[in-house]
Amino acid sequence: MYTRCLVCATPFEANDQLEHLPNGRRLAFDPSRGRLWAICRTCRRWSLTPIEERWEALEELEKLTRDKARLLSKTDNIALLRVGPLEIVRVGRAELPEELYRPHYRLTVDEPDDLVLMGRIFDRLYRSGFVLSTADAIRLLDEEPALAAINAHITHAAHNIRSVKLDNPS
Ligand SMILES: [Zn+2]
Repeated sequence: MYTRCLVCATPFEANDQLEHLPNGRRLAFDPSRGRLWAICRTCRRWSLTPIEERWEALEELEKLTRDKARLLSKTDNIALLRVGPLEIVRVGRAELPEELYRPHYRLTVDEPDDLVLMGRIFDRLYRSGFVLSTADAIRLLDEEPALAAINAHITHAAHNIRSVKLDNPS
C-alpha cells in the first residue's frame, strides 16, 4: 500500500484499525466496483490503492464498516462513516439489483476453493478490462457455470448471500 499521497507526497497517517491498510485515516471505497482509495489530509485528493494489494484490504474495510461504523451522513450514492479514528467514504449504490440476486453463488473467501474461484473471476474480468464488480462477477458465473461449480460444494448457509451483503451493508 502507498504510504504517501500520490499527488502531493504528504505521508498518510497510520491507523491501528486495518491490518491490510495501515496507512491513512481517511479512506474511500466502492464495494461494487472493488476500488479503494486513501484520501490526503493536505490536498484532499484520492490515491487509488494498487490493484494487487486491494482485495484483502477491501474485505477488511467492508467488515469493519459493516460491524462497527457509525453513519455520519448519506446520499443515494455516498455514505460517510466513522470507525474510531477513521473517516470512511463508501461510494456506490447500496443495493444489488434484484435481477442479479443469486443466493446459490458463493462470492466469499472462506475456503480454499473460494480463493480459487475469486482468482479466476479476478483474472478474467481484470484482463478483459472490466472493473471488478459484484454484478460483473455474477454475470460471469451465469455465462460460465463451470466457474460457479468450483466452490458450489461448500454450503455454509451464513455465507450464501455474501454477494448481497457486500453491496448492502446494514
Ligand atoms: Zn496530497
